[in-house]
Amino acid sequence: MPIATRAFAATAAHTPLSPYSFERRDPGPDDVAIDIQFCGVCHSDLHVANNDLGNTRYPIVPGHEIAGVVSAVGSDVTRFKIGDRVGVGCMVDSCRVCSSCKEGEEQYCVPGMTQTYGSPDPKGAAVGQTVTQGGYSDHITVDQNYVLSIPDSIPLDAAAPLLCAGITTYSPLREWKVGPGSKVAVIGLGGLGHMAVKQAAAMGAEVTVLSTSDRKKADAERMGAKHFLINSDKAAMAAAGEKFDLIINTVSATHEIASHINLLARDGTMVMLGLSTEGMPVYALPLLWRRRRIAGSLIGGIRETQEMLDFCAEHGIACEIEVIAPDRINEAYSRMEKSDVRYRFVLDMAKL
Ligand code: NAP
Ligand code: ZN
Ligand code: ZN
Repeated sequence: MPIATRAFAATAAHTPLSPYSFERRDPGPDDVAIDIQFCGVCHSDLHVANNDLGNTRYPIVPGHEIAGVVSAVGSDVTRFKIGDRVGVGCMVDSCRVCSSCKEGEEQYCVPGMTQTYGSPDPKGAAVGQTVTQGGYSDHITVDQNYVLSIPDSIPLDAAAPLLCAGITTYSPLREWKVGPGSKVAVIGLGGLGHMAVKQAAAMGAEVTVLSTSDRKKADAERMGAKHFLINSDKAAMAAAGEKFDLIINTVSATHEIASHINLLARDGTMVMLGLSTEGMPVYALPLLWRRRRIAGSLIGGIRETQEMLDFCAEHGIACEIEVIAPDRINEAYSRMEKSDVRYRFVLDMAKL
């Protein structure tokens, strides 16, 4: 039996999201059916709802920070049982045979991962779905290999944003081997930024937050930052020059990055996480003079996402959230546009 599903969907760019109904597939042999309890609101949802990347297929149900409970499993499912607390992040499938998939970096799948929403959905044909639909909804059916276990010590609402924000910051912190003695800067204290601060501090790094105002200073320090800079304060920025081994750049908009390169120590790297589609000028001299690098990073693989969830449980890290009813999603989007989120909105699907 197809699973009747209620949701909130965007039907056009810059138009309020509205209630939407559709069907999820009945679990196949390898599938897990999940009753979604909470879904985080990521800035990428807003980019896609507004067609910022130019490839949105409407109507679209955003949401890729999904936490819920298993309601049914297919005959071949070995990893989960009914009642388990589970999560789904940004991907629900990938080719499984390319070099990236074989190395557990499914997010870089060569033919392309199946994103939780907005990707072609061959498995949805039986219920008339051609495009995957995300977690601003009350049910989802996902292959067991793309489902995560949520540790018991993390409440489901505070766990939901770990499935995107949490892994997107954890993966580069691990890739660039952050540990005791590392000096890490985080630009932008939003959903991703606050996870980066908590995780880097837990790894033993000395963390500095760069923000557009001093509104979030006390919060940053409480989360584990040792230093706080306002990025328009030229004197403070100059004084912090050549200091950082790693800069995690979470800014969600096109912005000036050339001056930030000078904050990097020799061999330091700035990792771009924001989904800006416009060019941002950088200059060769400050890069070559100190062998600095600019890099990018996309979420993380399934194995690393489970490792991140377990790391957060072990270190008592969860997201700081504002739980809202799904019909307040449009208000959440407008507050996110103003960087007025502390530090993640989470939709309570019981209130759908
Ligand atoms: P968010 O909660 O809205 O936080 C973004 C932060 O960026 C804001 O809180 C603000 O920090 C800063 N900011 C916003 N506009 C700015 C501007 N014009 N100039 C300077 N700083 C500005 O967003 P998020 O959910 O953390 O996502 C951040 C970005 O990462 C988005 O573009 C999102 O799509 C992308 N993303 C990428 C991946 C990936 O795999 N690479 C995964 C998830 C999300 P302050 O208030 O501290 O100034
Ligand atoms: Zn996201
Ligand atoms: Zn692949």
